[in-house]
Amino acid sequence: MVGIFNAGQDYIPEQLFYGLFSLQHRGQESAGIAYRKDERLVVYRDLGSVGAVLSKYLTEKRKSSVGIGHVRYSTKGGNTIENVQPVIATCNKGQIAVSHNGNISNAPSLNDMLVGEGSIFQSTSDTELMLHLIARSRCNTFHEALIETLKKLEGAFSLAMIHDDTLIAVRDPHGFRPLYIGTKDHSTYIASETCAMDILQVENRREVKPGELIHINADGVRSEIYTAPVRRKACVFELIYFARPDSEVFGHSVHMMRKKIGSALADTARVDADVVIPVPDSGNSAALGFAERSGIRFELGLTRNHYTGRSFILPTTTERELAVRMKLHPVRPAIEGQRIILIDDSLVRGTTARNLVKLIREAGAKEVHLRLSAPELRWPCFFGIDIPTRKELISNRMSPDDIARHIGADSVAFLPLEVLRSSVGSDDGFCDACFSGDYPVHVENRLEEV
Ligand code: SF4
Repeated sequence: MVGIFNAGQDYIPEQLFYGLFSLQHRGQESAGIAYRKDERLVVYRDLGSVGAVLSKYLTEKRKSSVGIGHVRYSTKGGNTIENVQPVIATCNKGQIAVSHNGNISNAPSLNDMLVGEGSIFQSTSDTELMLHLIARSRCNTFHEALIETLKKLEGAFSLAMIHDDTLIAVRDPHGFRPLYIGTKDHSTYIASETCAMDILQVENRREVKPGELIHINADGVRSEIYTAPVRRKACVFELIYFARPDSEVFGHSVHMMRKKIGSALADTARVDADVVIPVPDSGNSAALGFAERSGIRFELGLTRNHYTGRSFILPTTTERELAVRMKLHPVRPAIEGQRIILIDDSLVRGTTARNLVKLIREAGAKEVHLRLSAPELRWPCFFGIDIPTRKELISNRMSPDDIARHIGADSVAFLPLEVLRSSVGSDDGFCDACFSGDYPVHVENRLEEV
């Protein structure tokens, strides 16, 4: 997500485009922007990448004072045009646009309640229900209705909103998803990751606090904490896999944290080998840390085609298998005759790993030892990362030795959970429920669904 406010008029759609472009890794199924023009909201959104959907709107200069943008991959609700964001509505509280990162974990019960009371939904994503709650609120002002709505939501929601001429940033009380705010000249920016701020050369920035609500308009920037404090539970998987390595999220450099985790992995899962090879790109930083710590040579033994998308994010198994073959290719001279430690960020179904080990063996590797810079994935996520059902997760069916046999590797080892916790700072407030099953908010009823 990105959002921009400028008290004067600026080329907001253009800046949203560049910000979103740098956040493309967070979702490739759809892209959209909404901005204020002549006292009404203009929205452009469609299925596809930022470049495919939005570049045609760059040819015409459009000045505006406030806009938000979104890239999406579906964790809840299908990949359909109805679910593309930003979502906009005009109601008794004014004109509203919302971009949402995360999942509302109590969405099913809120939906049942709203539908029971006569609400009609256009989409199947969580985001629209916020607008219904705001519109149906008996509070007199938008601000009161928004706070009332936020207090009804559970789970993960980093939000960028427009209400009339105001840009609004919200982060849920646990701070599951990252969100940053920054200023440059007369503009204020919000973005999911700092890489979007870098592209817009915004240097004066800070993390939006968990439970913080920020209004940005011609009167200035007004911040409040809208909820009683709870323990922060930032998504540790952002640091392991999801965020871009040149970003800062949750106050940590993603690259440096991945190197630290890779170094810890070398301490717990070292094996005699000739080279350490990352699965690019998300294994790169951890592999560097592993190689530095173990003293085993780092080598770029796999080339990634950057134009095919992230296989984890593609929705169906067939698409994922095809994507692996299209995406990664071994560099034969770096692999032939070598004993290889292959570093990847995590193991989901094992499909990618199986294909990869086969490719690497075909390129002449003597041994392949797979090391994962995350613990065993065992539980689904209800907070905005698309982790499949328990049945599909390979670690719920097989031990590391069984997985090694299944994927054709010589050995497989994961980062122990306690080592992950101490690497990121055990007191630092991270969610690791997909590894531990220790959910920070109530999800009991939801577990029956998976
Ligand atoms: S369950 Fe896993 S992926 Fe989901 S928020 Fe927690 S750490 Fe992140």
